[in-house]
Amino acid sequence: MTSDLSSSKTVASACPLDCPDHCSLEVTVEDGRVTRVDGSRRQPATAGFICTKVRRFPRRLYGEDRLLHPLVRRGAKGSGDFRPVSWDDALERVAEEIRRVHERWGGEAILPVSYGGSNGYLSQDTTDARLFRRLGARRLARTVCAAATTRAADGLYGRMPGVAYEDYAEARLIVVWGANPSTSGIHLVPFIRAARKRGARLVVVDPRRVPLAAQADLHLAPRPGSDLVLALAVHRWLFEHGAADLDFLARHATGVDELRRRAAPWTVERAAAEAGVEAREIEAFARLYAATSPAVVRCGWGVERNRNGGSAVAAILALPAVAGKFGVRGGGFTLSNSSAWRLDGERPIGTPPPSTPVVNMNRLGRHLVAPDRPIRLLFVYNANPLATLPEQETVRAGLLRDDLFTVVFDQVMTDTARHADVVLPATTFLEHRELSRGYGTMALQQALPAVPPIGQARSNHDVFGELCRRLGLSRPGEPETLDDVARSLLDGDGDGDATARALADEGIAFPPFGRRPVAFVDLRPRTADGKIHLLPEALDREAPEGLYAYRPDPASERFPLALISPATRRTISSTLGELYRQRVAVELHPDDAAVRGIRSGDRVRVWNELGEVRCRARIAGDLRPGVAYLPKGLWSHNTDNGATANALVPADLTDLAGGACFNDARVEIERLG
Ligand code: SF4
Repeated sequence: MTSDLSSSKTVASACPLDCPDHCSLEVTVEDGRVTRVDGSRRQPATAGFICTKVRRFPRRLYGEDRLLHPLVRRGAKGSGDFRPVSWDDALERVAEEIRRVHERWGGEAILPVSYGGSNGYLSQDTTDARLFRRLGARRLARTVCAAATTRAADGLYGRMPGVAYEDYAEARLIVVWGANPSTSGIHLVPFIRAARKRGARLVVVDPRRVPLAAQADLHLAPRPGSDLVLALAVHRWLFEHGAADLDFLARHATGVDELRRRAAPWTVERAAAEAGVEAREIEAFARLYAATSPAVVRCGWGVERNRNGGSAVAAILALPAVAGKFGVRGGGFTLSNSSAWRLDGERPIGTPPPSTPVVNMNRLGRHLVAPDRPIRLLFVYNANPLATLPEQETVRAGLLRDDLFTVVFDQVMTDTARHADVVLPATTFLEHRELSRGYGTMALQQALPAVPPIGQARSNHDVFGELCRRLGLSRPGEPETLDDVARSLLDGDGDGDATARALADEGIAFPPFGRRPVAFVDLRPRTADGKIHLLPEALDREAPEGLYAYRPDPASERFPLALISPATRRTISSTLGELYRQRVAVELHPDDAAVRGIRSGDRVRVWNELGEVRCRARIAGDLRPGVAYLPKGLWSHNTDNGATANALVPADLTDLAGGACFNDARVEIERLG
């Protein structure tokens, strides 16, 4: 796995960042420093190339924002004024504060906040979960992304993995819906290109003319939040025109009549009026989809980020069932393939008691400022909530509370870390051992440290283990070393020995059903009865107005523009934001700019009742009218007033699973004098 050339060596690694692709990497180390991070061919789907974000990762390792020592706050909260202390002092300060809060207010006054960050299986939900569960801490519902999509995929298919990237090359029709693989999940693009070379058709559904939309046979640009009615109109059309595969549905699905009934009100004309597209475009899409096989739908996470998100994803995932697209290579859908491995349910920590209070992370700000049963200690790791969560100004107000003790354990000085009382320096995946899997590609990979920890950085495993010991929360006989933890995870899914051997020999393992499974050949729905549930009862009960019920656009006369904030090439969510310091511009359509007297380069205020963002404007012809765009993952240094798109995003929740409604921000934009 490692080769040496005098003082230079290459180390096999894998990218554990929050990206579907999960590239295998080759890391060059010269004179003890990482000098290059490149792709390797060990992971066939990622084919040896990587994104520029991770190619620049050495700049995070050695950059000026890297945290090298534990720090304790010296100045005012949020000032970023800290003094260095020893690890022993920092950990004792944290342990003391945990003891104090726990004794006085109980475990529920403590809230751990973590998300994907840059960590895999060994760095999250292991010793950290042990610490917080034994304290009886409040639980965080990690709903900021993929909550509604996961609920829908689970309800309809029991989270059956979908079409592998490589099999897109076999498709005759590719539908990219609410995803932008040119920016996120880039390794899908070569397979789409290969299919196109062989004559495949391409349909893109996105309110922006993203790069693939510019090349597509058909681009539908619906109003944000209206994907549900588009999908229902296609269902109605399929049933009405004899294009539903009734034989397949009779054998493999339940809820067919009810789906048909709920789609019935959505004629293509009505859906077109609601979505702001042409009726003939919806009809052309339905006709093409019905007539072409293999056909695959790449459903992205852009679809879920609104009040109708869960129902929209469910309706899209139901399309291949109704149109009978399964059973052939390159036919079906891809959403998340994270369920190719089922290690999550087998962590060595047990489940928390049902009485433990839960905080939906999309409402973190509201919980932090709530006067009843206040949170007294916040422990943030693998996350930058001030940059990533809705109602940013409320999150900021919470972090500024004098009676809140905040610990941030991170690799660099983030916007959130600037508000901490104690900052602890964390290792990156190039400095600690990791085990990770993608959610687009289907491999499991192991990465060994390429270099020792930089400065005094420590791994999650070490720090949470040490806190457990200091607080008397360790138990004899539980997995202690990383080897123990890894082994207990691998044993949770099938043949742990075989997986461990593959990881040790090759650094990579593929799921037991292979790396390119075909649905209804190699895989079946993982629902209790093995069928597709087109109208799962639990989801129907959960959605406020029932599954597939459309809730209208929240735009008002005062705030008529829909603000969307999709991912860019520069960051992974907010990770690596310290490397992107330029000021951004809000983009808007020429018609929307003209009526407001705004020209490219003008300073503007983007605002609603939650807050405002001050930045430049850019006129963009690739947006549909009525839609404005500010990138996802910005930090305070990217705008003139330190607020980002999330300052304008309400803490409303999706119809399923309490997900974030980033695309339900409605705003006005005005030119500043
Ligand atoms: S972020 Fe995604 S594309 Fe970039 S190296 Fe990691 S897995 Fe590959």
